[in-house]
Amino acid sequence: MATTRANRDLMRAINRSIILSTIKTQGLIARAEVARVTGLSPASVTGITAELIEEGLIYEKASGDSSGGRPPILLAINPLGGYVVGIKLMEDHAIGALTDLSATILQRYQLPLHDRSAEHAIEIMAELVENLLILGAVSRNKLIGVGVGLAGIVDSNEGVLRQSPYFGWRNFAVRDRLQQLVDSPVCVDNDVNTFTLAERWYGTGQGVDNFLTITIGRGVGLGVVTHGQFYRGVHGGAGELGHTVVNPQGPLCDCGKHGCLEAFVSDPALISLAQQSYQAGEISINVQNIEQIVVLADNGSLPAQRIMGNAGAIFGQSIANMINIFNPSRILVSGEGVRNGKWFFNAMHESIRVNTMPSLYADVDIRVEPWGDDVWARGAASLVLRQLFESPVGQENSFG
Ligand SMILES: [Zn+2]
Repeated sequence: MATTRANRDLMRAINRSIILSTIKTQGLIARAEVARVTGLSPASVTGITAELIEEGLIYEKASGDSSGGRPPILLAINPLGGYVVGIKLMEDHAIGALTDLSATILQRYQLPLHDRSAEHAIEIMAELVENLLILGAVSRNKLIGVGVGLAGIVDSNEGVLRQSPYFGWRNFAVRDRLQQLVDSPVCVDNDVNTFTLAERWYGTGQGVDNFLTITIGRGVGLGVVTHGQFYRGVHGGAGELGHTVVNPQGPLCDCGKHGCLEAFVSDPALISLAQQSYQAGEISINVQNIEQIVVLADNGSLPAQRIMGNAGAIFGQSIANMINIFNPSRILVSGEGVRNGKWFFNAMHESIRVNTMPSLYADVDIRVEPWGDDVWARGAASLVLRQLFESPVGQENSFG
């Protein structure tokens, strides 16, 4: 009996998501049309849409069609029928965004992290949620859920951060811990996965079935979509492009190995190279951030240009490897590292061209897109929106 009940609940959850997703995709749609498109019975559609109207997630609108007869009542998603908070944990602060059901950011907020403990991070995330609800004047019962994007290896099914190279955490049950504090469903995933999900639904990846997102900045990340399916690997660890070894004799990486891609092209790697160059008397200032290196390069410093150019070439070589493996039709390069500038990105493009098989190179459209930190937070929010709009079956890997 319990199984039958569970099956019935699952069927209802699936039908609910299918109906919501249909209304979201179609814009304005009549109930009869929902039944036709989804293949569900008119009775099921009537029952479930009544429930969705009751919850405020959809609303009825008269069609205004005056061509005789009674104008059909149309259904539409109510973007303000529910709210989502997306959170991205950075190294020294946490960024949060409050969005509506169409992933539009309504409020932003951030808080510093005073230490690197998991306990503190959870408290800060809960505080972000509280503050965003207050800023947006949103009552708690309108909060559908909280999405969290984390760097590192994340088991999204279990809501567990399995390994974080930056924080040194292992097997940290982020979802369960945060859920206790915020009293709302929490979804957790790798930050590059959340970014890829948002791009697939709302950005550059719309309608593109084979594409890669590659992020650069504090680290390097990869999101893979093939045939419209997201590739995660056995426990969600796929896409650790930053920790593929470029040269085992290279610099020490955060992960403990030598010569990973990140140890050559991440922000700390570039800053460290520029500081060595300063100590060797080659450049004039002891730089503390990427912007200073970019200014030096733009002002004609050959060593600064060389640091950026070499790193861009190594990065491009790794991207060429990905193109040769996946044959994507589009690659989106983004992340904080888009500020690395022309010396880096010109070298990257040239290296991709030289190192990719020509016919595969011809297939791919490479885009470098500007970046804002709230892109991460919006990606995290879309984790929750996906739960709402996509049926429980197929959420495992697909984007719907
Ligand atoms: Zn590494």
